[in-house]
Amino acid sequence: MTHRKLKKEIMIGVVLLFLCVIISSLCFVILHFFQDKPNEKPLTEEQILVNKGITIKEKTNFIDEANSLLDKGYSPDEINQIYEYMSDQNIEQILANNYVDLSPFYQISNFDFSKIDRYLAYQSANGLEMKDAVTRVNLNLDEPFYQTVETITDPGSITVLVNKSHALPADYVPEDLVNIPSFPSLQIKDDAVDDFEKLLAAAKLDNVYIIPYSTYRSYDYQNRLYTNYLGRDPKEVVDTYSARPGHSEHQTGLALDVRSSSHWDNLTDADYEWMLNNSYKYGFIVRYPKNNSTITGYQEEPWHIRYIGVEHATKVHELGITYDEYYDLYLTKH
Ligand SMILES: [Zn+2]
Repeated sequence: MTHRKLKKEIMIGVVLLFLCVIISSLCFVILHFFQDKPNEKPLTEEQILVNKGITIKEKTNFIDEANSLLDKGYSPDEINQIYEYMSDQNIEQILANNYVDLSPFYQISNFDFSKIDRYLAYQSANGLEMKDAVTRVNLNLDEPFYQTVETITDPGSITVLVNKSHALPADYVPEDLVNIPSFPSLQIKDDAVDDFEKLLAAAKLDNVYIIPYSTYRSYDYQNRLYTNYLGRDPKEVVDTYSARPGHSEHQTGLALDVRSSSHWDNLTDADYEWMLNNSYKYGFIVRYPKNNSTITGYQEEPWHIRYIGVEHATKVHELGITYDEYYDLYLTKH
């Protein structure tokens, strides 16, 4: 190869290289031109939250609330959980307080922020699952029975909860007491009477003969009954089998004590079995089942049934929980 020829080839190489640089610069400029232009406007507050991983909720003041939770120290993930699982009432309280670790409570529907210390204390003292600790504390079971008593505001409702922390007004008398057609000397609330007759008829078809013997009882009657028991047993014992006045379901007209025809105040084991398996079809539940005295406050009472309507009785039966728990879980706004 001559020196001249080499020089020529170097020249061609330089020109080609130069052309390459020009073409790639052009390509870059063209591509850049067609690409989405970056947003030059500043990000909105909403976009800032989204970029942090927060799911925006359609709620007035959400942006302010989310920012305030971030300021308190809640992580974006915690904020998402709060808005997914917590009631508005709880969120209001979370916003009004300092940071609290809410991770044990996110999926618990009956959680109440104001009781958080009680839940934690009760859970660790009793080794329960947190969801059970929450329900029990809501029912004031972390306190002695009768310590906190709320006066019932809906005494005429068929779903009314009457227990040791929910009392009926002393002067409450159901307006719609009626005689039970098959047992005309006894009265219950009109809402329950047809279903009770259906229960009696269905039982009879299975050779189960149910006889009610104590149904509606007035406040005064319950007072006499309870006082009478006090002459026989110490108060702590009486409280396990008799309600204090105002705390008896019998005052609602929705509770009945029933017996088998062969017993004077209780069901036979077979009849009790029938009642446990069938009463819900007619809207009744066995209100004080066995092994639940720490929740209901009463020993097992096979004879005491309570009307709550077919829909709720069926659910209580399926869930296998006490009515106290059911009421807190499904019939109370938290
Ligand atoms: Zn009873």
